[in-house]
Amino acid sequence: MRIRVGTAGLPRLAQGKGYLRGLKMLRQLGLDLLEIEFVRGVTLSEREAEEVGKLACRLDVMLTIHAPYYVNFCSEKVSVREQSYERVKTCLRYSKILNARYVVVHAGYYMSYGPSRCKRIIVEYMRRLAKYIDEEDVPARIAVETMGKDEQFGTLDEIIDVCTEVGIGYVVPCIDWAHIYLRNRGHIDYVQVLSLVRSRLPDLRELHMHFTGLTLDSGKLDDQHDVIDTDRPPLRPLAEALYLFRNQFNEVSIVCESPLLERDALKIKRVISEVFSCRDSLGKT
Ligand SMILES: [Zn+2]
Repeated sequence: MRIRVGTAGLPRLAQGKGYLRGLKMLRQLGLDLLEIEFVRGVTLSEREAEEVGKLACRLDVMLTIHAPYYVNFCSEKVSVREQSYERVKTCLRYSKILNARYVVVHAGYYMSYGPSRCKRIIVEYMRRLAKYIDEEDVPARIAVETMGKDEQFGTLDEIIDVCTEVGIGYVVPCIDWAHIYLRNRGHIDYVQVLSLVRSRLPDLRELHMHFTGLTLDSGKLDDQHDVIDTDRPPLRPLAEALYLFRNQFNEVSIVCESPLLERDALKIKRVISEVFSCRDSLGKT
């Protein structure tokens, strides 16, 4: 299993230096994944994107795109849903220029529709986007993210339902571990989550993930990102779970979303490689 680790947006030390220099710096740090943050809209021209895509390919850095936060496929307003569709479509168009692997999407809030109707609407939109993927020969898949708040669409089960209905050639889960931890009120069972993905999506060979620590706000777990050293959620058990599933997936990509982007991305890499080499050497004796 290849494990790629990278940052959500350019590493801190490369910020303000542009994507081309930033990509080189990211690679020099030993990272091989970059999630381009179009969370407040697209920030690259098509020409720039083409250059970024070429360089990333040369450096063997996997690119992914995070779609805008202003996406809500479950809004009561048709105009908001259609704008959401257009925003994701734009990201898919850019994914083709960048040769990005995933377009990560926060699908929406239940609003007045409730979970099951919301799911039906999301499936409908994902099918429309799948049609666009086919028509335009888009290489990326839409990665629908597990969400942390109770009012958001995005339990793991819901997302797997959408993937199953639309097909994993188009829609896959983005496992945001901090969000799952938050939604579970500070509990996480990595093995259980990976087992569920494996059993419900048996043909899925690549898995995209987000990892960050979370803050405590007056003793209560909060959606604000914090450094990984908080251990909320803990990192080492994730590395151990990945080791258990090392033959189950061909590739796992982990985007670090902590405020200490590259420092913590390197920590993720280090802890995983410690766990893997330790287990491997145990296995050989
Ligand atoms: Zn996200």
